Amino acid sequence: MKEKEIEDLIADKSFGTDIFDKADKIRKENFGDGVHLRALIEFSNYCSRNCLYCGLRRDNNKLKRYRMSSKEILSCAKKAFDMGFKTVVLQSGEDLFFKTKDLCAIVYKIKKNYGLRVTLSAGLLKKSDYGDLKNSGVDRYLLKFETSDKKLYEYLKPDSVFGDRLKAIEILKELNYQTGSGIMAGLPGQNDKILAKDLKLIKDMELDMVSVGPFISDPDTPLKNCSTIEEFKMIKILALTRILSPFSHMPATTSMGVLYKNGRKKALLAGANVLMPDITPVIYGENYRIYPGKNIKDPEDNINEIKDMLSSISRHISYEFGDSVRGGFYGKNS
Ligand code: SAH
Ligand code: SF4
Repeated sequence: MKEKEIEDLIADKSFGTDIFDKADKIRKENFGDGVHLRALIEFSNYCSRNCLYCGLRRDNNKLKRYRMSSKEILSCAKKAFDMGFKTVVLQSGEDLFFKTKDLCAIVYKIKKNYGLRVTLSAGLLKKSDYGDLKNSGVDRYLLKFETSDKKLYEYLKPDSVFGDRLKAIEILKELNYQTGSGIMAGLPGQNDKILAKDLKLIKDMELDMVSVGPFISDPDTPLKNCSTIEEFKMIKILALTRILSPFSHMPATTSMGVLYKNGRKKALLAGANVLMPDITPVIYGENYRIYPGKNIKDPEDNINEIKDMLSSISRHISYEFGDSVRGGFYGKNS
């Protein structure tokens, strides 16, 4: 698909269900009906960056800041293991307090004690840090490029350089991480042409994991009162992402569930094959407010609710690791 075709499909308000059927068929062929659960641990909400869209930005002084201790993170990983999860996702702001060697020690213990896959999502780090973390056992890394438009990126992330983010994603791939990236849809200043370029870049990156979620305006950021993307368009973008990236694991994001009724279920019907239940202790998680509404416990975070939701769409929880299906170290062909 050419960029212009993608743009026209995004702009088209009239078409039928073809695109959704195609996305769902591709998902079924490449991933089956099992949905992988990744347990999300939000281990620190301190952030040294000032992204305009994010509630964790350093200038948001309304937020109560926290960071979990190594012990707390480990007991959360144990909880994930006891609940039957196969993957933990450790996510944080860019918290300069956490030294790479401390994170390495935590990851090493999680792997040794519980044998879980570990995904890290802690933003931009030095190449040597990514290397050390990989050696300590981190399997996967999530680093969204957020938008492919350099000007928009650098407006939204005033202390960041677009090229550095792309370079970091390349480094993660070189280091043999199962690499995840993606965008937010509905950002102010993002038109259909940019969205088409975003999806094309996601395709060209040949990612192991791709995350596309709607932007949600936070009242304590400079983007307060900004509108976001309408539901139909958002779901269409997910379906197009699945068609363009047939072999990437794709979550039905928490933001889908926060913004739209049955949003995560709709995403699962449009190509998604992953859910990321939040298992952060509530006293902390309620302050991990990237956007509002996130801290309200989604009933879908309860495993029984997830099972019911999945069986209503003839899907089920997968108890496999859910590694990349692209081949390489963990993949099908290894
Ligand atoms: N600090 C790390 C990881 C935490 S943020 C980083 O920035 O990579 C994780 C993701 O949250 C970001 O990649 C972004 O896509 C998403 N996010 C941040 N603010 C958001 C908002 N207001 N609405 C929707 N998603 C948001
Ligand atoms: Fe920090 Fe990430 Fe939020 Fe930016 S998006 S302010 S880097 S937590």
